[in-house]
Amino acid sequence: MAIARSIVDIAVAAAEKGNARRIIRVNVLAGELRGIIPAQLILCFGLMSENTLASGAHLSLETTPLMARCRTCEEDFAVKDYSYICPGCQGQGIQVVSGTELRVRDIEVE
Ligand SMILES: [Zn+2]
Repeated sequence: MAIARSIVDIAVAAAEKGNARRIIRVNVLAGELRGIIPAQLILCFGLMSENTLASGAHLSLETTPLMARCRTCEEDFAVKDYSYICPGCQGQGIQVVSGTELRVRDIEVE
């Protein structure tokens, strides 16, 4: 619910800045690690956007995969099944490079 609320806030603020009459679509990027259930987020978004410029807007959710970089050999790889081990050198010193983000990528207005 808190996530849906902040998405609505961000979208409405951007739409007001551009003097839009209403928001048609909101494109959101969500990292795999966020564990967002799309249907649930879309439902919450619908409720939270009532009586705002985002009322009736379509929420489009794009999931970004969990990616990590090995600190030893600097290889980037996709993390599967939460296995934080480098497939190249079996190193365990890794850094997560994507999959934790959550942001409004852009909005479409009229
Ligand atoms: Zn490595």
